[in-house]
Amino acid sequence: FWKPGTEKPRLVDDEEGGVLFFNSPSGYANIERQRQRLPVFRYRTAILYLVETHATTIVVGETGSGKTTQIPQYLKEAGWADGGRVIACTQPRRLAVQAVAARVAEEMGVKLGEEVGYTIRFEDVTTQGVTMIKFLTDGVLLREMMDDPLLTKYSVIMVDEAHERSIATDILLGLLKKIQRRRPDLRLIISSATIQAKSMSEFFQPRKSRRRPDGEDLGPNTEPAVLSVEGRGFNVQIHYVEEPVSDYLRATVSTLLLIHDQEPMGDILVFLTGQDDIDAAVQLITEEAQNRGKNSSGLMLVPLYSGLPRAEQELVFTPTPRGKRKVVISTNIAETSITLEGVVYVVDSGFSKQRFYNPITDIENLVVAPISKASARQRTGRAGRVRPGKCYRLYTEEYFAKEMSDEGIPEIQRSNLVSCVIQLKALGIDNILGFDWPASPSSEAMVRALEVLYSLGVLDDDAKLTSPTGFQIAEFPLEPMIAKMILSSGELGCSEEIITIAAVLSIQTIWVSGRGSQKELDEAKLNFAAAEGDHVSFLNVYKGFLQSGKSPQWCHKNFVNYQAMKKVIEIRGQLRRTAQRLGVVLKSCERDTVVVRKAITSGFFANACRLDASSHDGKYKTIRGSQEVYIHPSSVLFRVNPKWVLYHSLVSTDKQYMRNVISIDPSWLTEAAPHFYQHQRLNSMVH
Ligand code: ADP
Ligand code: MG
Repeated sequence: FWKPGTEKPRLVDDEEGGVLFFNSPSGYANIERQRQRLPVFRYRTAILYLVETHATTIVVGETGSGKTTQIPQYLKEAGWADGGRVIACTQPRRLAVQAVAARVAEEMGVKLGEEVGYTIRFEDVTTQGVTMIKFLTDGVLLREMMDDPLLTKYSVIMVDEAHERSIATDILLGLLKKIQRRRPDLRLIISSATIQAKSMSEFFQPRKSRRRPDGEDLGPNTEPAVLSVEGRGFNVQIHYVEEPVSDYLRATVSTLLLIHDQEPMGDILVFLTGQDDIDAAVQLITEEAQNRGKNSSGLMLVPLYSGLPRAEQELVFTPTPRGKRKVVISTNIAETSITLEGVVYVVDSGFSKQRFYNPITDIENLVVAPISKASARQRTGRAGRVRPGKCYRLYTEEYFAKEMSDEGIPEIQRSNLVSCVIQLKALGIDNILGFDWPASPSSEAMVRALEVLYSLGVLDDDAKLTSPTGFQIAEFPLEPMIAKMILSSGELGCSEEIITIAAVLSIQTIWVSGRGSQKELDEAKLNFAAAEGDHVSFLNVYKGFLQSGKSPQWCHKNFVNYQAMKKVIEIRGQLRRTAQRLGVVLKSCERDTVVVRKAITSGFFANACRLDASSHDGKYKTIRGSQEVYIHPSSVLFRVNPKWVLYHSLVSTDKQYMRNVISIDPSWLTEAAPHFYQHQRLNSMVH
């Protein structure tokens, strides 16, 4: 089944001894020692010097070398947070923000939310005037620019995980470059796990030198400095499968059990694609281990994906109990954003969930797609942190060599740009195609976004934000379509309901996972199912939760995730305050689901689909691009198949599936977006 690979193993360097921080007891003296043993520590002086003298410093270093947790502390120690200034460190992922902030607070011996804090959407754990180091998502920092365009409270901004090239990171880099020209005192650190440093450094090249001919210094050097932190990874042996695998989930499970049976102790890190296959893997492993009747108790299975409840996140970082083998089953979040100690074996499925957008069909969806060579190498590297390790790649060596692309495509080139355009417009950037992008989005995608925003009433004929609608929509920390739906709900008299729906759509799921069978979960969901669709069903769950007195027992009985519902209540409160501030009339429509669905249509008209009458398998076609789509099995409208529907998002596996679907009346579409759906075309379809 397995054959050893020939990819050149990395340098072996065990001068420091193999058992670095392994199961080490805590305590400050000890933490201090740990800090000093991180590869980045040797570069402390160099980093501080470069930041002092250069406007932009690019730091490249492999995962686990200490970039994220140490550099902000060095900066604080060197006085960059004096005088009420704040050091910011951005991350593309929310879960990483929380995890690193917690770790740094622990290292500094302070309470999270005081000297060290974090901010993610809908959750601000900082204290004004006290917080010196602030971790935040790149998206939140972008939002902060709406109130403070020059980000004046920050002395240093570290854009971390720049190699991920998330859409918000790219926008942020373009904007920070602009800010730098106005704020010579601001320092940027761009940090990255892979050597894309060259393109980053070119991007930050100044147009002209800041040094006058007579040599007088006009401030920091604006040429970016590049610093590479030498890691100390151990040798990782790579194994490939002999033949391509047909079912990566099953292959993952059997590989994992094989490792557990045959290899010495050491934790296993498994890369799958998302919550669905991670939960499925946990279940399969438990069953398989039970079937084999041995060793199942030796495994400690820990899922890791965004949206994981806090308590379960912590399990990921707790030291493995003696005699157990920890198995972390993760999305690509463990590729570079989060460092796990004690991993010796990596199982790489070769896939991750990626966003893809096609401007021709105007369809964006999440697709399980092959990773790049760069990702594969990152995954492999996770096995060599504490001692020599092994990586099992569930693809052939030939596939790796010949089929895998070298690097991933920046997210901005594979996304719908609606949110991106509105944010830039709100920041006063009107010439979006002429914006200084690290990687340019396609003009087709841009045109599509402008078209949708125009139909939403966000942009006027000159592509400027409309007043007040455009500005109001930009105010909400939400997709423009959801914000529009809230604004319309004020006019339609159903804002209380729509704000609840918006809050539910802002979190991953309100259902529990990994407990009971799919059948039990489906039956539980049926209790709340509304004939009008999923959004209306959410209202039933919310109502039930309130009527139960927000009871955890009620949630347990109904397969509803209690933590998620608490979050919904909190987000709902925040959105309600924003809506109120913007003058949205807060009102409930009681049981009138027509106005609720009309409000949803006013935001999501672009996602309308019609049942294909000629097919009997529940096939729909999108109205705009005539693309084939199906209702997702998790929807209450699965197999109900109303003639006209709207969806919130698409996921793609074997087919394109619509998630969160409601039934609509086609006349609402022309009402909501007359320009988008010309009467004629729609009429000819209705009749
Ligand atoms: P980088 O950003 O370069 O990938 P980090 O700063 O995230 O590295 O991590 C440096 C080291 O700090 C890790 O190797 C690990 O030893 C330790 N560490 C980081 N986060 C945690 C955590 N949540 N729990 C325990 N140790 C951690
Ligand atoms: Mg990091």
